[in-house]
Amino acid sequence: MTDQLILGQTLRFKSDPFAMPIEDAAVVSARGGVLIRDGRIAAIGEADALRRDHPQIEVTDHGDHLITAGFVDAHMHYPQTAMIASWGKRLIDWLNTYTFPEEMRFADPAYANEIAGRTLDLALSNGTTTLTSFCTIHPASVDAFFSAASSRNMAVVAGKTCMDRNAPDGLRDDVKSAYDDSKSLLEKWHKTGRATYAITPRFSPTSTPDQLAALGALWAEHPEALMQTHLSEQLDEIEWVRGLFPDARDYLDTYEEFGLLGERGLYGHAIHLTAREVDRLAEVNAAVVHCPTSNTFIGSGLFDMAGLKARGIRTGLATDTGGGSSFSMLRTMAAAYEIGQLRGTPLHPAQLMWLATEGSAGALHMTGEIGSLNVGAMADITVLDLASTAAIAQRSTRANDLWEALFPTIMMGDDRAISDVYVAGCKVARS
Ligand SMILES: [Zn+2]
Repeated sequence: MTDQLILGQTLRFKSDPFAMPIEDAAVVSARGGVLIRDGRIAAIGEADALRRDHPQIEVTDHGDHLITAGFVDAHMHYPQTAMIASWGKRLIDWLNTYTFPEEMRFADPAYANEIAGRTLDLALSNGTTTLTSFCTIHPASVDAFFSAASSRNMAVVAGKTCMDRNAPDGLRDDVKSAYDDSKSLLEKWHKTGRATYAITPRFSPTSTPDQLAALGALWAEHPEALMQTHLSEQLDEIEWVRGLFPDARDYLDTYEEFGLLGERGLYGHAIHLTAREVDRLAEVNAAVVHCPTSNTFIGSGLFDMAGLKARGIRTGLATDTGGGSSFSMLRTMAAAYEIGQLRGTPLHPAQLMWLATEGSAGALHMTGEIGSLNVGAMADITVLDLASTAAIAQRSTRANDLWEALFPTIMMGDDRAISDVYVAGCKVARS
């Protein structure tokens, strides 16, 4: 692959803007450039200097569009793509009414292939270059997702969802098949190309203690894998967990007891946490994943971003589609901002952009590899048009700095704001 230089406004992060002043954490260039070599970022700097140093290089000039790291979605359910924005219901009703009947269709590999490809293309059209997905209980649903991602050269995380109770006929595995299928899928896909495997118990209400223990044993045998699940999303869910695990100290303990709490664990939602749960998450350096459009859509509650970040807990951002109501990480950032406002802790646009890129990459233990414009990272890049609609354009033209110019796109932007996407340095064809 030949070297190439892309020019535009650029935004990268030197460090976490929750931990230090924005101007020290973020590096903004009004006329910057990114040098791409062999699919990775080889240099980033001022456009004029890069052109001078590389006079023969192929150049793509994005004008005043903003070049940023591709978005990293740290928690979603690709099998729910076709039922996004289903009306009404609380979590448990919503799973039974909409989710489980749709997930049953993934027994058909052809359907799984169709939805996997559709989901990844929707992600790319929204500037998201990495998805972290639950699949269904069917091993073919995992093969479908990783195969579709491989054909697009996308870095993805996924795993077979395990459920052996409190799910309908046709959507339950058992202790042995959950272990055996997860193990063979992990050995087949983990670190094959850009794939990462995550051991995936859906959540403790749908796994027996024996199944949780089997998956904990698998994780102990394969500590290099990630583990993803759900934690403390809704209050009635927490009550249900208390009834199912009467001896557990709290919801997190239902994972910890079976070897499913660790540094490479990803705990989606994590809204209604006890002090002990927060302490344990911090002690083991586990990651939590904020899913704001899902939390408002299903009425789950207000995630404590400021409190958890202040404890140093690694935090990613995610759509949680189809419980989330949008494939767009811009809309997801807007919802995170709104939830921060409702908690009295507004998030700066730099913090929102960091969460959608570096934050999620950190949750996935992929810092420096994805979600970054720093030298050495894979060139998964999203280019934003900061004047994609008349409403956004009339506001951003009055901006005094990049943050003022970007914030209207965060709050009001959608896939029209995504002008170009690069995956491993290759521009994705626009459909
Ligand atoms: Zn979820």
